[in-house]
Amino acid sequence: MADKVVGILGGGQLGRMLAAAASLLNIKIVILDVGEHGPAKQVLFPTSSQFSHIDGSFTDPAKIQDLAAKVDVLTVEIEHVDADALAQAGCPIHPSPSTIKLIQDKLAQKRHLEAHGCPVSKFIPVQSTVGSIHAAAKELGLPLMLKSRTLAYDGRGNFVLRELSQVPEALAALGDRPLYAEQWVPFTHEIAVMVVRSTTGEVRAYPVVETIHKENVCHLVFAPLRTRDATLSRRAQHVAEDAIRTFEGAGVFGVEMFLMENGGLYINEIAPRPHNSGHYTIEACETSQYENHLRAILSLPLGSTALKVPACAMLNIIGLSSSMAEVKALTDVALTVPGASVHLYGKAECRNGRKMGHITVVAESDAQLRTRLRVLLDALPSSPL
Ligand code: ATP
Ligand code: MG
Ligand code: MG
Repeated sequence: MADKVVGILGGGQLGRMLAAAASLLNIKIVILDVGEHGPAKQVLFPTSSQFSHIDGSFTDPAKIQDLAAKVDVLTVEIEHVDADALAQAGCPIHPSPSTIKLIQDKLAQKRHLEAHGCPVSKFIPVQSTVGSIHAAAKELGLPLMLKSRTLAYDGRGNFVLRELSQVPEALAALGDRPLYAEQWVPFTHEIAVMVVRSTTGEVRAYPVVETIHKENVCHLVFAPLRTRDATLSRRAQHVAEDAIRTFEGAGVFGVEMFLMENGGLYINEIAPRPHNSGHYTIEACETSQYENHLRAILSLPLGSTALKVPACAMLNIIGLSSSMAEVKALTDVALTVPGASVHLYGKAECRNGRKMGHITVVAESDAQLRTRLRVLLDALPSSPL
């Protein structure tokens, strides 16, 4: 497997975990991102100049060409890349640049899903004007979820409009970004499914997980989803698989969904890459999302997506301030918890709301998982549960 070199646009934590998986299969990785010592580059020591990383932006066409010249296949750990430049790269790219381009514009993504019969809640394009947002609120009701079409992550780009008097505040917060509006979804739970798709179009879903968000950021993931609804997990996996079949190219995809009181499902959004809700697969599944992404894009046999532990939870380590003190306090506790695996991303600076690492806890039962997780939640300054 050492004969194929993979280039990754983006060198954050997802690239770091892809690199860790690649090392086991002796797959060479070259990273394009700004800076010399980001999370992914730190764990990849180039053994020759051929494998030296590139210091530059994944939105810079010239740097994308430089990366393409060094590798056999290109992939992404972030969707906010220059998809048109990627399409000109002249080597295989997974998932396809057209898929990345479609997904990076959340309105285009929603239109695509709707056109292919995938369940999505109501949405409409809006202009960044008071009148246009008033009209959207009239059509879709309040509260109204205003979203930036592009460059969104961790809810930065979303504004919950509860009353019309907030429109100027919303416009100020979202700036001059292109917007659209979504109907407010009164979900009971958020769930997610990772799906891996091979170069021949085979799709395999991972187990359904429950995701718990706090202030728009994923804090906790529980795998597998616990529910009294006997059909829910299969239905959610089918929805996710059907959605991923509509996109071109190979790799893993994260499918975020809303679960309604009546058991109905809506797709919230899709990520064309490994996803936070799939970190747990490293310890809890027969093949991690990272290894399966590499297998998929290199046309190797896909690995089993089955769980190999009875119960699992993943807790994100989110920065509270510029101080690493809270991160250290939490990881010190995690090191004492049986079944807990600490992942730190090696980010140079800590910031409020920044994902600094995560902790995966595996257990023999839900009761044991709760006991183990409780120790970690009690060590948090403010618990999400
Ligand atoms: P990320 O890519 O980090 O998951 P994002 O910035 O793309 O986040 P979304 O996933 O669109 O943001 O939204 C963030 C969160 O906001 C969702 O996980 C959900 O909790 C809530 N949310 C999003 N859309 C709606 C909606 N239409 N109705 C109610 N809540 C919503
Ligand atoms: Mg998103
Ligand atoms: Mg999301």
